Amino acid sequence: MELWIIGSGCSIPTKRRGAPGYLLRIGAEHLLLDGGSGTMYKLPQLGIDYRRIHYILYTHLHPDHIADLIPLLFAFKNDPRGARQEELHIIGPPGFESYWQGLQNLYQPNWLELLPFPMELCELARSQRRFPSFTLKSSPVRHNVINVAFRIESDEGGSLVYSGDSGYCQELVELARGAQVLLMDSSFPEGEGTDNHLTPSQAGSIAQQAGSQKLILTHLYPQCDPHILKKQAASTFQGEVIVAEDGMKFVL
Ligand SMILES: [Zn+2]
Ligand SMILES: [Zn+2]
Repeated sequence: MELWIIGSGCSIPTKRRGAPGYLLRIGAEHLLLDGGSGTMYKLPQLGIDYRRIHYILYTHLHPDHIADLIPLLFAFKNDPRGARQEELHIIGPPGFESYWQGLQNLYQPNWLELLPFPMELCELARSQRRFPSFTLKSSPVRHNVINVAFRIESDEGGSLVYSGDSGYCQELVELARGAQVLLMDSSFPEGEGTDNHLTPSQAGSIAQQAGSQKLILTHLYPQCDPHILKKQAASTFQGEVIVAEDGMKFVL
């Protein structure tokens, strides 16, 4: 598996960090994990053709995580190299189908219904689903709206847990248990945390309990200093800690 950090930031635009978005490659399959404003425009900079995305996984419906859905579909439809033909799987949290219905009502005259390719929309809460080259597990975790964290287990052997936006909760510990790499919300430094997001030491504590090898801290607000975040996470986690930066790539 390969993981690219498209955007390591949050809802606040900064020069350094874009909105949340991550790309995971498993064999020939490309999975987009969340996609806030502008994430699709960063894919060419990472050398990735956006048309290779066949799965989009949304943790929750906050705009910093889902705002690029419509531009992405519009690009698939209008690409001068030819409209997309392959099936697209879009997986979201409970409420995603009604969000989709709202978009269909908004975008008249129904261009969303007339997309030239098949689309599978699916809502997941606590579940497990098998795809050709990976298994997807999901669990609702703690946020101020429904947020579903994902665990992706590749048939090649790697495993990744992505929290989306989450406060500290036992559900996230359980989903992460035994996973190789954790990609975790770490919105604020210690002392500035909220119930709905993790601090570095809380993310570290989850990684320690889960027995993971590597913890990647992301969803960083502008006041986050990477050196301080790393120290704070290392106070509770003995494995490797990395503070995400836009454009980083990992081989899992
Ligand atoms: Zn967010
Ligand atoms: Zn959120």
